[in-house]
Amino acid sequence: MKAATRIVRAGLPTAQQAAPFLPGPTFAAPYHAAGDPTTAPYNYGRLHNPTWTQFEQALSELEGGTALAFASGMAAIAAVFGSVLRPGDKVVLPSDSYYLTRVLANGYFTQMGVQVVMSPTTNNSQLEHLDGAKLLWLETPSNPGLDVCDIVALSQAAHERGVLVAVDNTTATPLGQQPLALGADFSVASDTKALTGHSDLILGHVAVREAALMDGIRMWRNQIGAVPGPMEVWLAHRSMATLHLRLERQCASALTIAQFMSEQKGVTDVRYPGLAAHPAHDLARQQMQYFGPIISFTLADEAAAQHFLSACKLVYEATSFGSLHTTAERRARWGGDIVPAGFIRMNIGCEDVDDLMADLAQALDH
Ligand code: PLP
Repeated sequence: MKAATRIVRAGLPTAQQAAPFLPGPTFAAPYHAAGDPTTAPYNYGRLHNPTWTQFEQALSELEGGTALAFASGMAAIAAVFGSVLRPGDKVVLPSDSYYLTRVLANGYFTQMGVQVVMSPTTNNSQLEHLDGAKLLWLETPSNPGLDVCDIVALSQAAHERGVLVAVDNTTATPLGQQPLALGADFSVASDTKALTGHSDLILGHVAVREAALMDGIRMWRNQIGAVPGPMEVWLAHRSMATLHLRLERQCASALTIAQFMSEQKGVTDVRYPGLAAHPAHDLARQQMQYFGPIISFTLADEAAAQHFLSACKLVYEATSFGSLHTTAERRARWGGDIVPAGFIRMNIGCEDVDDLMADLAQALDH
């Protein structure tokens, strides 16, 4: 079955006369569960929910493993750290990962006695730090720098040393890249972004191949309680069915716009893994089916970047990415990422690409 078919049908129950295609959200704290509670498939709302079950089934089909939904991408990341890392363990992180991943590792987990070693995504440089590690954390393409590393090569090297591998797959989505099939033990994502793509909910998930790893993740979610609301999960499942359509449009437009921006005066360092000029383009082609909706580029300085963003009429100035609305921000306004003051991360949405290019051209002229 092709990806476009699989995603439209993923997680839907078998057809039943007079039943909806995607049953609506189930709102429940306790469920009726008399006698031995383990005989009821659902007994308490922090542990399970039929709406989660449907969505997790859909995610599992896409990931090629077993998936569990979380209240946010950060809750999913914390579940992998929390279920794997113990005092004295070493974790190897990308120094250019999503900044809050680094903040969590360097803050709480360092205080708990975990050793955090950081190295850039580019050139697979995390390879040099694997000896003695418990967990290798990858993020490819990285946010916001869009560097790419080799999941197959890094996973092989890690497994030879008994190191577990997790990939933050947020920027690619499971349609764009399947970390478990490429050798990783955990595929983790913020589903706040392109997977759901409508800028209206916060969600995350973890997928694994091994049952023992899933036991740890499930126990963590049950005990920490970072569970998603059924309404968000139902919306996510509904939205996910159009991921293929959205990505087709967004990635085609992202490539066109990246090429267009590369030719504009005053715009430097245009980055998109789908551009032949990207330093890891060949590798990206090998391990990705879609290059994602994000491009980045640099303008002269903070003032030029802010000026450009205010002059755009079709680009919302906002954080996050993956949505069907085109958005952009000057990333340095947050601190935390090592990027120039004029660095802009732009999410290309589903608007008409000619309209977007005309808007960007008039904003650059400003
Ligand atoms: N991972 C990446 C790559 C992200 O960009 C983000 C958020 O921007 C997260 C994880 C965290 O996701 P959430 O905001 O859903 O907690």
